[in-house]
Amino acid sequence: MVGGGIGGLAAALGLRLVGWEVTVVERARVLADVGAGISLHANGIRALDALGVGEAVRAASRPQYTGGTRTPGGGWLARMDGAALERELGTPIVGIPRAELHRLLRAALPAECLVVGAEAASADRTDSGRVRLALEDGALEADLVVAADGVGSRLRVRLFPDHPGPVYSGSTVLRAITGRPVALDTDFALTWGQGAEFGHIAFADNRAEWHAVLNSPPGVRHADALAVLRQRFAAWHDPIPGLLEATRPDAVLHHDIHELATPLPTFTVGRIALLGDAAHAMTPNLGQGACQALEDAATLAAALATELTVESALARYDAERRPRSQSVARAARQAGHMGQQLSHPLAVAVRNTALRLAPSRATVRAVLRHADWTAPSLS
Ligand SMILES: Cc1cc2nc3c(=O)[nH]c(=O)nc-3n(C[C@H](O)[C@H](O)[C@H](O)COP(=O)(O)OP(=O)(O)OC[C@H]3O[C@@H](n4cnc5c(N)ncnc54)[C@H](O)[C@@H]3O)c2cc1C
Repeated sequence: MVGGGIGGLAAALGLRLVGWEVTVVERARVLADVGAGISLHANGIRALDALGVGEAVRAASRPQYTGGTRTPGGGWLARMDGAALERELGTPIVGIPRAELHRLLRAALPAECLVVGAEAASADRTDSGRVRLALEDGALEADLVVAADGVGSRLRVRLFPDHPGPVYSGSTVLRAITGRPVALDTDFALTWGQGAEFGHIAFADNRAEWHAVLNSPPGVRHADALAVLRQRFAAWHDPIPGLLEATRPDAVLHHDIHELATPLPTFTVGRIALLGDAAHAMTPNLGQGACQALEDAATLAAALATELTVESALARYDAERRPRSQSVARAARQAGHMGQQLSHPLAVAVRNTALRLAPSRATVRAVLRHADWTAPSLS
């Protein structure tokens, strides 16, 4: 397994469950995901159930029963009925700090599975049909290499030299977890202005993650990002100024959002499988990137458990995962264009009117479109 992110750790769990010996090679010296918070839809939670960690993740999460989409003045464009989602899918969306999700995935793996501070450079077929994984410092041989090395995947570049690779989405994101508990009226909210979004997800301990997404050229950075945001969002509705107030300046993360806009022709080359963002990095507008990585992990493990050869398992993995994840990625990009990125005042007004007039069930239906996925059994 190359990459100890959510995708790589989940795949390691799945492969171990179906009897494989696994080594996760992670280039970072310390295995701790630096993101802020993450929301998981039913499909991601079902995949975690199949991987044996669903209960632990649920226990550390906060169900997102109340929330929706708002205007900067605070008016509601659409509300989400988390209880209705729970009736349909068995769970509402849940929110959890990324570091906690990461910790729970790591805790379910024996420590000796994880090799940190090791960067993979390439993977090549050996004469015996296995795969040689070249590291910056040494090499490993394996029956299968899973490239879960994220949006900037080095292995993907080696396997698909003509693929254009990730592109800038046009949006930059600043985010953080508040330094203390905050009083919130809703578990989550998204507020759309012109070419700007501010959102929050409340956690079980009453802290919250917030994110501000802005149309921007890539590479713009601020000496004091929090001060810039306080000014930018000063006139937006509560609790936005309060969330920024409850945040330490050094807690703010700033990333430009890249995606794999040109879909890969296949997720497998020989005995190498791409998984998670390495295979289908998408914009975060549907909150589905990690959920799709978790689906990949459960599906790959199930295919390896039931197919007679590694080759046929990988063919099945590609057939099951590529169309679905690439269609979710397309939908996420579209959601970004119609949501956070929309900036022309007239277009924003038309969109907002359409959202206000939509039946209340439309929000639940929009989530069901991607979240209603059945996990394979790995037992
Ligand atoms: C702002 C934002 C918000 C998001 N919110 C959500 C959300 O709410 N819900 C959701 O489902 N998804 C969300 N996502 C998407 C989600 O974060 C990603 O899809 C997910 O983290 C991908 O996991 P991964 O393991 O594939 O990749 P990564 O998390 O990028 O992990 C890759 C790992 O590989 C390691 N690595 C890289 N190269 C090498 C190498 N050569 N050798 C060894 N190791 C290497 C890296 O250090 C890293 O640890 C969001 C994304 C963003 C940007």
